[in-house]
Amino acid sequence: MNWEIDEESLVALRRDIHANPELSYHETRTSGLVATLLEGFGLEVTRPSPTSVVGLLRGARPGRTVALRADMDALPLEEETGEPFASRNPGVMHACGHDTHTAMLLAAAKTLAGLRDELAGNVKFLFQHAEEHPPGGAVEIVAAGALEDVDGVFGLHVRNQKAGTATITRGAASTAYDGGMLTIQGRGSHGSMPQHGIDPVVVGSEIVLALQTVVSRSIAPDHFAVVTVGAFNSGEAPNIIPDTARLALSVRTTDPEDRETVRRRVHEVIAGVCAVHGATYRLDWEPGYDAIQNDDGAAELAFAAAATALGEGQIEWGPATSGSEDFSVYAARVPGCFVFLGGGDESEGFPFQNHHPKFNVMESALTLGARLEVQIALDFLAAEA
Ligand SMILES: [Zn+2]
Ligand SMILES: [Zn+2]
Repeated sequence: MNWEIDEESLVALRRDIHANPELSYHETRTSGLVATLLEGFGLEVTRPSPTSVVGLLRGARPGRTVALRADMDALPLEEETGEPFASRNPGVMHACGHDTHTAMLLAAAKTLAGLRDELAGNVKFLFQHAEEHPPGGAVEIVAAGALEDVDGVFGLHVRNQKAGTATITRGAASTAYDGGMLTIQGRGSHGSMPQHGIDPVVVGSEIVLALQTVVSRSIAPDHFAVVTVGAFNSGEAPNIIPDTARLALSVRTTDPEDRETVRRRVHEVIAGVCAVHGATYRLDWEPGYDAIQNDDGAAELAFAAAATALGEGQIEWGPATSGSEDFSVYAARVPGCFVFLGGGDESEGFPFQNHHPKFNVMESALTLGARLEVQIALDFLAAEA
């Protein structure tokens, strides 16, 4: 089977999408562009939600169906790359590389559409909206039935590592994210008369320190877990004991049991410390994305495809990212694998991480990413069910 990626149009598309970023749930231009191109490739196009697109490529012969996913949304960030194709939308930037995901999957779709006569089975292209904004677009796409006839699902994410290399994880590929907003209700008083008050600054401080024991004492040392207090706001003046304190927490875990343990221990610590001091509290717990659980078979298939598409030595087994991603929604329903693609590292002139206003990727890596997506689809459809 002879095929190649249309490199020139891939880079042009990436730059066009990069210059016109759109926030989560507002990917109107991007999804319109994607739908038009997929129709042009001869795919069956549906719209599970106003700003998402699913393209179905039916092979010449019957077989299984493999899904490939790209996300399309940008972030509320002012771009500082200085590129000629930098964002034209003030305060909005493709700082997570979703512009490259969209362009790579479009290039893969074009190539696979050209191979239709040789395919046994179908390829479904999931162009997802709103990855950056929980509850996220994946739940809407799944609710619309997009995975009902799908046998395997794969996704790529660019990140800061050597351009054109890939990393695949066994088991969890990302973390589960949960957030909590805590309000401690104390009793305000004159700063010179603490005996008449319940000081929420002291209570909050004790909670911050006590929370440090949740991971260190309740989670196994070889498991991944983080508890962070990212905000602590209380008081205005040195001589006033304030009435309330507000703390913002974030929690990341990879194991579902650890996730529940951390949630329970955080609640117990807060309730216990508040009770000791006679304070009351309100904790609004906001569950975020689940951890992506890679399927062993799907991960092996993606690893072998990466060795073919990128070259032996360009692919390695690696640890999970500490970030979170709603690809977990697909991988929870269908055997799947999430692959990290290197978009360039510091030694190559790309020192910035995803979500940084100067985040950028080496465009030569995009052709390799599109090659990998095509190879995964071909290998999946060629494999025994
Ligand atoms: Zn992101
Ligand atoms: Zn992302």
